[in-house]
Amino acid sequence: MIRFESLLARAARRDPSRIALVTQHVRATYADFDAAASRFAAGLVGSGFAHGERCVILADNRFETAVAIFGTLRAGGIFSVINPMTKADKLAFVLNDCEAAVLVTQASLLGVARNAAKQVPSLRRIVVIDAVDEADGPSWHAFMTGAADLAPGPPRGIDIDLAMLVYTSGSTGRPKGVMMTHRNMVFAATSITTYLESRSDDVVLSVLPLAFDYGLYQLLMCVMCGSTLVLERSFAFPQNILPLLSSEGVTGFPLVPTMAALILQLRSFDPAWARSVRYLTNTAAALPPAHIARLRSLFSHARVFSMYGQTESKRCTYLPPEQLEQRPDSVGIAIPGTEVWVADDDGKPVAANVIGELVVRGGHVMQGYWNNEEATRRALRPGRYPWEKVLHTGDLFRIDDEGYCYFVARKDDMIKSRGEKVSPKEIENVLYALPGVSEAIVVGVPDAMLGQALKAFIVRSADSSISARDVIAHCAARLEDFMTPRLIEFRDALPKTSTGKIRRAALQAEVENREIPPE
Ligand code: ASP
Repeated sequence: MIRFESLLARAARRDPSRIALVTQHVRATYADFDAAASRFAAGLVGSGFAHGERCVILADNRFETAVAIFGTLRAGGIFSVINPMTKADKLAFVLNDCEAAVLVTQASLLGVARNAAKQVPSLRRIVVIDAVDEADGPSWHAFMTGAADLAPGPPRGIDIDLAMLVYTSGSTGRPKGVMMTHRNMVFAATSITTYLESRSDDVVLSVLPLAFDYGLYQLLMCVMCGSTLVLERSFAFPQNILPLLSSEGVTGFPLVPTMAALILQLRSFDPAWARSVRYLTNTAAALPPAHIARLRSLFSHARVFSMYGQTESKRCTYLPPEQLEQRPDSVGIAIPGTEVWVADDDGKPVAANVIGELVVRGGHVMQGYWNNEEATRRALRPGRYPWEKVLHTGDLFRIDDEGYCYFVARKDDMIKSRGEKVSPKEIENVLYALPGVSEAIVVGVPDAMLGQALKAFIVRSADSSISARDVIAHCAARLEDFMTPRLIEFRDALPKTSTGKIRRAALQAEVENREIPPE
């Protein structure tokens, strides 16, 4: 049995002077990181924090966020990292939902934190990472040094204890806390580091928020392998971030499609940046095949992993890079040690190439949504065997004759046009292949004749002047007539979630003249 915090202690024992974390202000060794996590745990325990209590962390990607994550686990607690852009009401909802005992935040977010805290009776303490004066409340420093060191002893719990809650936006607008045990996390991190062939001499550069499981696992997986994480806060200015690839000798670089689009738009790309990178990964939304090809030519030594996942099981599938040439639009096979299949509306497996819902089975599947039995019942349903539940993803897939998976659409994103079912993804892949298209999304506009008419929202790359006619001609040459969008609108930017996904639901609501749903 392994609890996740023991992996930090193990890394510190094996190679105490190895750099664990590099941030703008800190270069911390594994010994530093481990000692800081223990001090944070001592602070929590000293303030009466009980086994299984929740510590919510509202902070940027920084050293202290990582310390609070591992410190909470070491104290026997459950952590939840919340995106620092979260507003007070949503934060209050989350704090109340999980009945948080402690909130860790930073001075710049104290206003939001205090506004939320007023509405949360369970909250006993706010710890402010960089408190500037006493009035800001108990500072990080005081918290870390105030309590006696945690006595070495047995771990404060076992591996089936909950370790974290990851809040994801629900379709109703009410966030849902995905419950993951230590065992879930160790399993998922082992499976992913197996196919990435991660090593202790890897250096991973991550700009993804630690509140997003894709970002969080960069930290967890580096700790598991004893490798180095270079943690940045944003990719808004890629020219400032990409030089880190060469200066830090980065070997692994996780991307989401928006980041790829920003890289591909750069006027100049220094080949030195790509030299040490041995793998790129993409998840959250599919990378258009045209972008994959261009990324591969920039990062010519790197293996590119197209992946698909959901917070509810962390990751579901990955495409072995050797398959990329042959099936650039596939997200591959189940991650090691797990199974996936496609089921019909009654939950029965369907034949190859038939579209249905993707179902996932494995040690990475969540325990359910915190405090939300109804949503849990919908997602986790009886599986192949009476003693277990499997995850119903709500995503439509097909699996080809050789067992490779293809994302078709979110169940509720399918468009019905001229009586035909249309997958917006298929059209978007074609749009991305048109030079000058930086980002694209297709939605269905209510139409008396067609049911839904296809509309494409497009962001042009900086130097492009493609017109609506160019777009329609390009699609008409490659897609069936009923799949060719006739309504084209160019925008400077598309609405995004805090994790960088284009907000399809917001654009869909806009064309239907409905109120834009919350993220
Ligand atoms: N959990 C997913 C992954 O890491 C990302 C997502 O939820 O979009 O693959």
